[in-house]
Amino acid sequence: MSLTFDVRRNPTPASEERRAAIHANPGFGVFFTDHMVRAVWTRSGGWGDGRVEPYGPIQLMPSAAVLHYAQEIFEGLKAYRHADGSVWSFRPEANAERMQRSARRLALPELPTEDFLGSLRALLAVDEPWVPPAGTGETSLYLRPFVFASEAFLGVRPANEVTYCLIASPAGAYFSGGLKPVTLWISQHYARAGAGGTGAAKTGGNYASSLAGQLEGIEHGCDQAVFLDSSTQTYIEELGGMNLFFVTRDNRLVTPELTGTILEGVTRSSILELAKDLGLDPEERRIPIEEWKEGVASGEIREVFACGTAAVVTPVGELRWEGGSAPSTAGESGGEVTNAIRSALLDVQYGRSEDTHGWLTRLA
Ligand SMILES: *Cc1c(COP(=O)(O)O)cnc(C)c1O
Repeated sequence: MSLTFDVRRNPTPASEERRAAIHANPGFGVFFTDHMVRAVWTRSGGWGDGRVEPYGPIQLMPSAAVLHYAQEIFEGLKAYRHADGSVWSFRPEANAERMQRSARRLALPELPTEDFLGSLRALLAVDEPWVPPAGTGETSLYLRPFVFASEAFLGVRPANEVTYCLIASPAGAYFSGGLKPVTLWISQHYARAGAGGTGAAKTGGNYASSLAGQLEGIEHGCDQAVFLDSSTQTYIEELGGMNLFFVTRDNRLVTPELTGTILEGVTRSSILELAKDLGLDPEERRIPIEEWKEGVASGEIREVFACGTAAVVTPVGELRWEGGSAPSTAGESGGEVTNAIRSALLDVQYGRSEDTHGWLTRLA
């Protein structure tokens, strides 16, 4: 039986003026809607106790397992308002399925796809006005589902009580400065994931592992770090939270193949499908970091970009490492192919072009 969500309305929701002010300048992940969704799983009873309730603090015992052993997973997707006022999401079933794969890796219970989608609809049913109005550029309502071990127990084993939550945050363009190419730092001392580890799961621990490399990059004047395979330090994997693509001189669109240490982005797989529509040849394989350095010098690599739900598609500029750098191929605001892919995705998401791949699901 699918989960139902009892609605307990927030008695003091934000005023329309307050919401409009937030929509005018949402930033990213700063403001949250009036409500959240919560459900609890127990080993004996399965998923239950689904509710929509006022957004607010979660009570946890200090012994809650997640705080000690990081048994946690999350997702990230967006709700987009179309010109006719309707609200849509982009391939939310793919997020539901990925959350199930992440759950298996972290020994957490799987939330069925229909309950995942049900929770999105339940939240949108009360917080629909929080989806920014159409025609304001790249604004959306960012949706953050997450699952964590809420059982109060310090023993090391999969938790017998787990909590699912969904929160939502109005979002503007992810990078506030516009489409400025990001400078990347090759993280040589720190990996975000290793063979047999949790790299392919969307779990907070991978982000925690990426921060030291990220910080090292920032200290070297870069915006983000690019991580290599941890066993040989030879092959390009991804950024802390985005996948990478290369556009070659002969219109191939190359991205690192999924080796178990790379997170399979929904944006990544959508771009691989879109490639054919745009006359590009998609290619998934191992890419040595040397190929990037040399490809920029020889002109073999025309463009580099990163992708993910939050920032969509972001041009990558200069690459730096200890003792060297490769110049940007991105110009002022990204190359032609990068921008064509970016527009193609945004046009589908915002309902400005036909959804030929059947990627949109209506939420409200
Ligand atoms: C979420 C995430 C991505 C991007 O995935 P999308 O589904 O495209 O948002 C890429 N890399 C990592 C490590 C991630 O956690």
